[in-house]
Amino acid sequence: MNNKSNFSPWLGCIADDYTGATDLASFLVASGLRTIQLNELPEHQTVLDISQYDAVVIALKSRTCAADVAVADSLKALKYLQSLGCGKFYFKYCSTFDSTKEGNIGPVIDALMSALDVNSALVCPALPVNGRTVYNGYLFVNGQLLNESPMSAHPLTPMQDAKLSRLIEAQGAGRAIEVNHAQVVQGRDVLINALDKASEQGNYVIVDALTMNDLAVISASASKFQFITGGSGLAVNLAQEFQTLGGTLSPVESRKRQNSGHTVIFSGSCSTMTQAQVEKYQQTHPALQLNPLSIDNKQQSMQDVVDWMLENIDNGPLIYASADASTISHVHQTLGKDYAAELVENCFCELAKAAKQAGVQNFIVAGGETSGAVVQALDIKMFEIGPSIEPSVPIVTTIEATPINLVLKSGNFGQPDFFLKAKRNLSCS
Ligand code: ADP
Repeated sequence: MNNKSNFSPWLGCIADDYTGATDLASFLVASGLRTIQLNELPEHQTVLDISQYDAVVIALKSRTCAADVAVADSLKALKYLQSLGCGKFYFKYCSTFDSTKEGNIGPVIDALMSALDVNSALVCPALPVNGRTVYNGYLFVNGQLLNESPMSAHPLTPMQDAKLSRLIEAQGAGRAIEVNHAQVVQGRDVLINALDKASEQGNYVIVDALTMNDLAVISASASKFQFITGGSGLAVNLAQEFQTLGGTLSPVESRKRQNSGHTVIFSGSCSTMTQAQVEKYQQTHPALQLNPLSIDNKQQSMQDVVDWMLENIDNGPLIYASADASTISHVHQTLGKDYAAELVENCFCELAKAAKQAGVQNFIVAGGETSGAVVQALDIKMFEIGPSIEPSVPIVTTIEATPINLVLKSGNFGQPDFFLKAKRNLSCS
């Protein structure tokens, strides 16, 4: 039976980092939309037939870029998605908004709205299944205001405000307007009206959501928006919109994963949850910490770290730079924030290349920026999305004769035993 719809791909998505892209893709796949993730725009005609997919997710590494670079990359991605014939567009950023006053979410939304010739976009970072909720326009992380949560000490994007309208208006040229929870809970008909009205009065339509059910109602009420933005949660009901338009749901069978049994784990995330995951894993598995100060002054040699990784390859070695807020602050004062981040990311790139050369096929990476760096170092241009290990964190597999399996985890996601669980999942194909 030919399940191909005559308007595939329908949904074009742009994600501002690699873990965000896999997070979104995992929701799309789970809902039945055939989805491919591209980690760079194909320069030449690829052998892959994109029209066999309903959704295309383009992963950028733009979260912490200067606004003009992020805008240029996003517009290029949009142009490519338009050239594929996509009819609806989704800009995915972090469910913790990860973007300070100097951030680029606002400018990117403005540029995409202008290129799409629309005046308003839905703004909804909530992802209640992972503890991110929006109420009265304030973003909460596990019940704490964003600026009172561990996100206030993020090494790259320390979040000092939880009010989304203030954050986005400080960045973009448009006006924010809120649609509150009281309207969401009244259901689809009321919400459609509220969204219509809001989009006449403002440009960034910020919608409250406390539960996944709220998100499903929002997603089902937003079919008029050609452009939606937020965390991955808005994807939960898009499959329904696709069906209403005549699309047929037929999840892609994920490729049979093959592996050598060898898994390496790289952790560049400094989130509280990742620190707990590192702690738990190293109780039973080999682990080595990268110290940016020692790497910079050559007391820690990358060759030694590579040798250590390969010596421990049978036991799933973990190499981590993850550290607590006071250690990070000391590193930042000594080396500077950007240089320290680049130094650490370069170390993981070197390790990833050495592991691949040694035949490792399974990579678990913690951290959005870190994942982007590793995927680029491994020269992985696209992959298919497999089963999720925890909500928002799927196994992804490259499309090549000897596939590589990756688990790319955004800093805050997963439970303390995440690395153990991910390694177990990768070992049984
Ligand atoms: P998350 O998903 O938790 O935000 P990211 O990988 O996106 O994680 O961001 C963490 C950033 O912090 C990366 O750029 C990483 O290189 C940097 N980093 C990691 N460890 C350290 C450290 N010990 N000192 C300074 N910067 C670090």
